[in-house]
Amino acid sequence: MAPPQGPQAPQEFGGPLGAAALLLLLPATMFHLLLAARSGPARLLGLPPSLPAPAELWSPRALLLLLAWLGLQAALYLLPARQVATGLELKDRRRLLYPINGFQALVLTALLVAVGVLLGLPLGALTEMLLPLASAATLMAFIFSLLLYLKALVAPASALAPGGNTGNLIYDFFLGRELNPRICSFDFKYFCELRPGLMAWVLINLALLLREAELRGSPSLAMWLVNGFQLLYVADALWYEEAVLTTMDITHDGFGFMLAFGDLVWVPFTYSLQAQFLLYHPQALGLPMALVICFINAVGYFIFRRANSQKNTFRKNPSDPSVAGLETIPTATGRKLLVSGWWGMVRHPNYLGDLIMSLAWSLPCGVSHLLPYFYILYFTALLVHREARDEQQCLRKYGRAWQEYCQRVPYRIVPYVY
Ligand code: NDP
Repeated sequence: MAPPQGPQAPQEFGGPLGAAALLLLLPATMFHLLLAARSGPARLLGLPPSLPAPAELWSPRALLLLLAWLGLQAALYLLPARQVATGLELKDRRRLLYPINGFQALVLTALLVAVGVLLGLPLGALTEMLLPLASAATLMAFIFSLLLYLKALVAPASALAPGGNTGNLIYDFFLGRELNPRICSFDFKYFCELRPGLMAWVLINLALLLREAELRGSPSLAMWLVNGFQLLYVADALWYEEAVLTTMDITHDGFGFMLAFGDLVWVPFTYSLQAQFLLYHPQALGLPMALVICFINAVGYFIFRRANSQKNTFRKNPSDPSVAGLETIPTATGRKLLVSGWWGMVRHPNYLGDLIMSLAWSLPCGVSHLLPYFYILYFTALLVHREARDEQQCLRKYGRAWQEYCQRVPYRIVPYVY
């Protein structure tokens, strides 16, 4: 069943009105979180105590730093890759090639940062620039999305995403018109998906850890845990970089403001919220509690990694010995659906693992404030919504076979709960 395209495509995120609201709401929420994290009361709900002066929100230095960061990551992207992966077949039957060198870029970035810090680079000072950096990144995301929109106007119909070409300017600008915008072999969406934003997230975390050490003599245990857990998550995403090629972001969504802002701005500045909170609101964390939190993160990571790897292996080679014995449901497309193993427990076991990890990232911040739990609240909403979008797409793709899968595996994310 081919989904309707163009103006007939079902509209998501509340259509043009929802998209217009999100264009304002997402940046506003991010600035609110940045301001709240550094304020005394650190309230998630309610206005931050004081609004910053314009000079605190903008600096040409921050803009230059951001451009240098993007330039560095683009240069690392262009370095020879250990492997070149092939994407899924496109509407015009072509398959795009993607360099698999994200982990290499992470290691080289870490080496550069380490050398810089040893030579006296004041990385901790980055924490004083978060607001102007976030402003520069937001401005850049708007300009970049506009350029992507204009580029998509001259793209052939076969290059457009299933949604995002409805003819409504705001909706298409938000959702993204072109599926894989490229200049020569440089793929903008693939580049932004896992590199500049994810690595900026761990760099901001590291800067907060170093700043804490400057202020209090050494980083706290809570700060070590948050840094360690989130570094593991980012390193894992880059190590298994090829897996991103089968995600909804790459195969279904166009590249517009939603992904550009999400990847380049939202991720580094809001996902580092726990570390930001800890810098301004130090928390005492005992070893027994730290061990419990490590255990929760390990359980989440185990489920997340095993579930993702099982599906990726199955999609790449269903006769691989690790998945060949699993029970499957045939579909009219020729592809099969796993109905035992992790994917027989719930329909999105990888989301379950991700959510368990998100709890472990917030727990080091104690229970005195709701603010550090923003991530788990937002992430639950994101994954519930994402799961529903994915189900719609799978129903269109697999029809009756998907309905059978839903009957056999009735829970979506959490066994016996949801
Ligand atoms: P998924 O990896 O969950 O993939 C969903 C696809 O898997 C479906 O469209 C279908 O595609 C295939 N599939 C579904 N059920 C089965 C089955 N039973 N057997 C075989 N294949 C099946 O997609 P996401 O991109 O949403 O998530 C990837 C990872 O990224 C997750 O771990 C998620 O938690 C994480 N994530 C993290 C975010 C963050 O901000 N930290 C944001 C979003 C995601 P097909 O049949 O075409 O192969």
